Amino acid sequence: MISPKTLKLSLKSLRDFAKKELPDERLIELDERDECPIEVVRQMCDPNKLGIQLLLIPEEYGGMGGGAFDNYLVCEEMAHIDLGLATTVFATFLGSDPITVGATPEQKKQWLSRIADEGLIFAYGATEPDAGSDLGALRTTADRVMEDGHIAGYKINGNKQWISNGGIAGAYTVLANTPAGPSWFIVESGAKGFTHDEPEDKHGIRLSNTAALAFNDVYVDASRLVGGVEGQGLLQAQAVFGYTRVMVAAFGLGAGWAALDRAIPYSVKRIQAGGPLSEKQGYTHKLIVPHVVHLEAGRSYVEETAERIDTGKEGWLNTEGAIAKYMSTEAGNAAAEASIQALGGYGYTHEYMVEKISRDVRITCIYEGTSEIMEMTISRDRWQVHLKTRGQYYHDEARKLETLHASHPNVGADTAALALHALAELLEKARGGRLTRHQHVLFRIGEWIAFAECAGSLSRRAARMAEGKLSEKASHRFDAVSLAAIARIFAREAALKVAEEGLRIVVGAGGVDGDLAAFEISLRLPAIHRAQAGLIADMDEIADALYNRRAKPTQKVA
Ligand SMILES: Cc1cc2nc3c(=O)[nH]c(=O)nc-3n(C[C@H](O)[C@H](O)[C@H](O)COP(=O)(O)OP(=O)(O)OC[C@H]3O[C@@H](n4cnc5c(N)ncnc54)[C@H](O)[C@@H]3O)c2cc1C
Repeated sequence: MISPKTLKLSLKSLRDFAKKELPDERLIELDERDECPIEVVRQMCDPNKLGIQLLLIPEEYGGMGGGAFDNYLVCEEMAHIDLGLATTVFATFLGSDPITVGATPEQKKQWLSRIADEGLIFAYGATEPDAGSDLGALRTTADRVMEDGHIAGYKINGNKQWISNGGIAGAYTVLANTPAGPSWFIVESGAKGFTHDEPEDKHGIRLSNTAALAFNDVYVDASRLVGGVEGQGLLQAQAVFGYTRVMVAAFGLGAGWAALDRAIPYSVKRIQAGGPLSEKQGYTHKLIVPHVVHLEAGRSYVEETAERIDTGKEGWLNTEGAIAKYMSTEAGNAAAEASIQALGGYGYTHEYMVEKISRDVRITCIYEGTSEIMEMTISRDRWQVHLKTRGQYYHDEARKLETLHASHPNVGADTAALALHALAELLEKARGGRLTRHQHVLFRIGEWIAFAECAGSLSRRAARMAEGKLSEKASHRFDAVSLAAIARIFAREAALKVAEEGLRIVVGAGGVDGDLAAFEISLRLPAIHRAQAGLIADMDEIADALYNRRAKPTQKVA
């Protein structure tokens, strides 16, 4: 784990580097030329210069041994600068992940040390032309090459699609089918029979090199099979999903805030109808405040999940990683889109950057598992928990928030509890009516779960903030008063969304025969409607905080 002071210094070095090497004009030019600035990437990865990848490598291999929380902050900072470059650095991390979790000690020493010492760029080759979300459809093969009755090596044949760093990496981890199942192999860029295509002409992250790979009888020594045992590939990939999805979630936060950090100052200077746009509630409360709230809801879940991963005691946390990614990347995407609107015609041009950020951030809802695959993952995993606890899991979580509300009445915990109670009722109705046989219902449940769990997380975060107990490394962009208002706003939205959209879908799927009124009561709709009171005042509070208009805290936080 990196100390708060060292982390702060590293983040500052990253910002200073970006200020010098990557001003907006340079980023716009590279985006227009569709070019990955390889010399900048090398400087970023050079251990004698910025050495950003050192943060991600364990100490025993020459890195700084950053944990999930450190990586979240680095990823957010990088995405705030440029998501294409962030993807380039992330791809090295992703490419080395199968090695970090599954390699033999010798393999770790050889490859992780090279990333730390030489700044070796890695790529992660999983996706294929016909195997995207469904990696089970993998077609690339790795056939054994036998010598004297022993496996001497493997011959790899097949194609990979959309590989970040595909055309610039020095080494690749490649998922291929062995006789015992999918396995990771390390292939170096000069290997005979290995080629890559020209970079893809993409919608966004045009500073990131993305290329297709082809393997034509590429021979690798047996020592290049990660972990030395065939058939471990999918397990090794899954072992890091919690971690890597938190990192992509951080990309959503970084890019979303990068857009808002342009829209907010713009709105102060832009005068329309006799005053700055920042003074117009119809503008701020539609284009700025809701996006701030969603980004901070995502952040809360990211921070909680990263802290839990760093304890090392809670397993892979893949469902939590999926919730963090889903909420933060959707929020980042929506924030960037709204920022174009917030800048009007200027937002629609290249010069003001929000258009580029909006194109860039779109990828975060696609790679490392699409938003729909996240909905499915979240729903399926928590469905099992609902069944195992005989429908009590979310009622229990709600009761914990009711207890929190008793000590912290201003952090929206009572309303978040309403969201969780409603969720428990909806899941139970879905179970009784066997409604998850409709894939749409299954996926919508994933979305409600993500909203309700984030509402709970944000209430807990606001309470910890009020007690001065947030981690020193945690984001302190908002003070306790504003964070409590953000938590209340989000809890109201989550409760209403879960209950009303849930009602619509469950009734729509034929899940309520007869007593609709009883179902409505079980969802506690009147209480959820009453909880909306105070919404506009809380949105005013956030707008005042964002625009530094608050003379003094307007509300006391318990
Ligand atoms: C710029 C970029 C960089 C990338 N970098 C890498 C990389 O470095 N390494 C790597 O291995 N991969 C990489 N990828 C691949 C990326 O992870 C995949 O694109 C992603 O997983 C989706 O797969 P797909 O494109 O085949 O889409 P598909 O899986 O075909 O999905 C298409 C649509 O259908 C939906 N869908 C899919 N399955 C289902 C289902 N069962 N039920 C309902 N809906 C479904 C999806 O949500 C999506 O909306 C990259 C992609 C891009 C565009």
